[in-house]
Order: sequence, then C-alpha cells, then structure tokens
Amino acid sequence: MQSPDPIRSIVIVGGGTAGWMAAAAFARNLGRHLSITLVESEDIGTVGVGEATIPPIKLFNAMLGLDEAEFMRETRATYKLGIRFHDWLNLGHEYFHPFGVYGLKPELGHFLQFWLRVQAQGHDIGPVSDYSLCTLAALQGKMGRQTDDGVMATFGSAYHFDAGLYARYLRRYSERLGVIRIEGLIADVEQHPETGNVKSVRLKDGREIEGDLFIDCSGFRGLLIKQALKTGYDDWSHWLPCDRAMAMPCAHAGADINPYTSSTAREGGWQWHIPLQHRVGNGYVYSSRFTDDDSAETTLRANVEGEALAEPNRLRFVTGRRKKFWNRNVVALGLASGFIEPLESTSIHLIQSGINKLLLHFPDRSFAPANIEAYNRRQHLDYERIRDFIILHYHATARDDSALWRYTRTMEIPDTLAHKIEVFRERGAFANAAEEMFTPTSWMAVLMGQGVIPQSHDPLVAYEDIATLRTGFARMKDHLTRLAADLPSQRDYLRQNGMLAMS
Ligand SMILES: Cc1cc2nc3c(=O)[nH]c(=O)nc-3n(C[C@H](O)[C@H](O)[C@H](O)COP(=O)(O)OP(=O)(O)OC[C@H]3O[C@@H](n4cnc5c(N)ncnc54)[C@H](O)[C@@H]3O)c2cc1C
Repeated sequence: MQSPDPIRSIVIVGGGTAGWMAAAAFARNLGRHLSITLVESEDIGTVGVGEATIPPIKLFNAMLGLDEAEFMRETRATYKLGIRFHDWLNLGHEYFHPFGVYGLKPELGHFLQFWLRVQAQGHDIGPVSDYSLCTLAALQGKMGRQTDDGVMATFGSAYHFDAGLYARYLRRYSERLGVIRIEGLIADVEQHPETGNVKSVRLKDGREIEGDLFIDCSGFRGLLIKQALKTGYDDWSHWLPCDRAMAMPCAHAGADINPYTSSTAREGGWQWHIPLQHRVGNGYVYSSRFTDDDSAETTLRANVEGEALAEPNRLRFVTGRRKKFWNRNVVALGLASGFIEPLESTSIHLIQSGINKLLLHFPDRSFAPANIEAYNRRQHLDYERIRDFIILHYHATARDDSALWRYTRTMEIPDTLAHKIEVFRERGAFANAAEEMFTPTSWMAVLMGQGVIPQSHDPLVAYEDIATLRTGFARMKDHLTRLAADLPSQRDYLRQNGMLAMS
C-alpha cells in the first residue's frame, strides 16, 4: 500500500460568494495542515446578486461555528420560511412552498395519504396548506424558533441575505484563520506540459501563484475550468429557456418584513421579491426568445414596491452545467461550475454541496481518477435533481396566455421528472426520494401547487377510520392556527433576538 502524497497548498481563484465560502470551509477544516490562498480582482468585481437560500445553509454556518445573531446583523439577513408563488399555475392562482413539514411531526410520514383518504371520501377538510405551520406563520408575517421536538419541530427556515456582505463577512473569518488574500487580475494560466494540470496563475503585474489544488470560483468566466482546461458544458436551455436577468433593489414600502420570497410568473419569465433588513431585492428572470430587454425592464420597474435604489443590473447566462466539475487538479464551484436559474434559490446551496463533497473526496497529489469521477457523479446527480424540480414549475402549468408558457407546458421533459410526476399523480407517492435534495414536503407543495393532484392514495390507508381522521385533522388545524397567530412578527423576532443591524 502507498502512502498518500498530501496536498500542501490550495489556490482559490475568485472572491465572490463561492470563493469565500470555499476559503472559510477549507480554513476551518484543513487550515492547520496546508496553505490557502485566494486571488480576486476588484476591477472585475462579483456578480452582485444571490440573496435567497434554502435550509441547509444553516448547517454550513453551523459548521463554521458562526453566531446566528451576528451573522444576521452583518449580512442584513431576514428569515425565509418558503416561497410564495403567484400566477404560476394560472393567472390569479397562488400557492406556498414551505420549508417546514405538513402536519404535527418532524417528518411528512402519512400526512398526505391521510389527507387524500379523507378527501377521497368527499369530505372537504381544506387545502394541505392549512396544516403547515410554516405556511400559516409566513402568510401572517410571523416568525418562530424551530425546536428538536414538539410541533415547532415542523418549522423550517433559511435566510435572505446580502450576498456581498456575506462574502465580506466570510473573508474576515477566513483571514483570521490564516487565508492569504491576493488582490490582482489573473492574466494567464500555466499548465504542466505533461499532465495538463494547472501549475500556477500569473497576474497582470507578473506575480505567479503556484498551488497543488485549484478551486475555480471565477464566476461565469470559468478562468480555469473553461478557458484553460476547455471542459465542456451541458446546455439545458431547451428545458429552462430563461437566459437573462435584470436585478434592481428597492426600498421597503412598509414596516413589515415578509418572511418569504415571492415569485410571480410573468409573460416572459418570472419576478423575484426578496425582503432583506435594509432593502428589497427584485429581479426579473426572462427568456430572450420570448421577450425583449425593454419589455422586461418596463415590467420590472412597474412591479417594485418602493423607491428604486439603483439602476437595473443586467445579466446573461446559459442554464446548464460543466461536463466535469472537477477536471485534473481543478474543482469548479459556483457560477464557474454551471448555473440553474434562481427560482428555488439553489446556487449557493450547490456551492455548499460542492464544498462538502470535496471534503469527503479530498485528493492527494496523485489526483486519482476514480476519486474525481466519484465526486463528479455525485455532484451531477445534485444538479440533475434540482434541474428537474425547476422544470416542474414551468411544465406543470395551465397557462397559455403567452408563448413562453405554451412552449414550456408542451415541451418534452426529462424521463426522471416525467416518472416522478406520474408516480405522484397515481397515488401521491415520491419516486427516488432518497436521492433528492428537496424533501417530499417540497415536492408535494410544488406538485400540488402546480396542479398535479393525486388520483388515488395508498391502499393501505383505506383501512383507517374516516371519523377518527376527520377529528384529527380538525384538531390539528385548530392547534396550528392558534400557534401561528401567537408567534411574533418577523421584525419583532429579529429585534428580540438582537438580529437587527443598527442602520
Ligand atoms: C440573476 C441571478 C440571481 C441569483 N439569485 C440567487 C439566489 O437568490 N440564491 C442563490 O443561492 N443564488 C443565486 N444566484 C447565484 C449566485 O449569485 C451565485 O451562485 C453566487 O453569487 C456565487 O457567485 P460566484 O462566486 O461563483 O461568482 P462571482 O460573484 O461572479 O465571483 C467571481 C470572482 O472571480 C473573480 N475573478 C474573475 N475573473 C478574474 C480574474 N481574471 N482575475 C482575478 N479574479 C477574477 C472576481 O473578481 C470575483 O471575485 C443568482 C445568480 C443570478 C445570475
């Protein structure tokens, strides 16, 4: 057996959210053993968007040992209990995708099956959203603390934050743990003539930075993974045709801070509304095939709640992913690795899952191909599962008022998603749930919200006594409604817990 030849230095190229998340996580986990250098260029800057997250971000912050109240003050964060979707199924229709669980238990269990059984007997016990504490609280602007047991264990939340401030916060954290930051513009990438591995990056001023392992966090440019290593890209825009975005922050119009993201389907795409402590993030994600930039800007400006705080920031992207996230001695994270539009706020999560997997598959200097392949397969699966979840929103719609929606509702979808829809429609079951990043609760909320209603239920539930189930549902609704009403508003919750920034 051979002893591994350990990595001695990591070079992170780019200092956006991806670069500083990677720096912080590696410093925390590996900083005692190897050197970590991050190169970034203020001249180029960062993409400057990305404000909504999903619940696993809490695990990332906990792994770093961040204090939640401090983190929230520093990044002007608010809580996000889920996403409120407007006009996605039909104009005028809305539904909520909650991060917490339906029912009274911390796992979905038989909740949906029992609900289906009662409905199938002709008793209208109200929509499933009546049994989601997260939904009930969110729609009243309330916030509470999730617990390990009891009904508050059904609660779930993530954050809205200022991604620029998050990167700066993590920069201070990383530098305290010894990460070396180099300011400079990378002009050239040097590769080993024999292995093709990246040997060093050269700055415009001539400085050369060598490393064993390179993390490409250079954003859409993909300096190493794309420009130097020419790693191919899987283009998914035939399933997800949006390819542009326009972001524009505005002031809050009132005192309330909604604890959820709003997503409104529009003629050529959809618009986000993300309340932070100090402002509201807005943006229109649209398809240049189905609408033009001027119409998009008019739509965006007409639909912001308060005074605009900046001119629109225009972005272009191609939905898809690198054929290899890890190629030779380069691992791409963040926008350098691919992009799936922010409908379910998954990009920052994919950075986190890439970092976690890299720690699980940490290489030595031989860069064993089997280990690299294992990493790529696992990360590919995450991308594909998220891709399917996003396509579901576009495909399962009844809208036919504009060309975009007529295209997406009639397009062919991946087999994996078609199978999931079919299995759910038959009896409310979840196909391949163990591989999923999104929980059955999330799939259920979006499938039903988008009009995919199970035709039947699990036959084993047919043995349950209907009267008992009906009484149970009535009590549950009453209990959850009272609990939600008793929670403080999000603003009060932030104030009571020392989470509001002074300014
Ligand atoms: C419209 C839109 C909305 C989004 N919304 C969300 C959201 O709500 N939630 C979410 O999770 N994600 C969202 N994202 C994704 C999110 O913005 C990114 O995943 C995240 O910001 C990570 O970006 P990054 O660090 O990969 O790239 P960037 O922020 O672009 O950073 C790239 C870094 O590389 C450096 N660099 C590049 N070239 C050079 C060079 N030659 N020399 C030196 N340095 C260089 C730059 O200076 C910069 O530091 C959104 C993305 C878009 C486009």
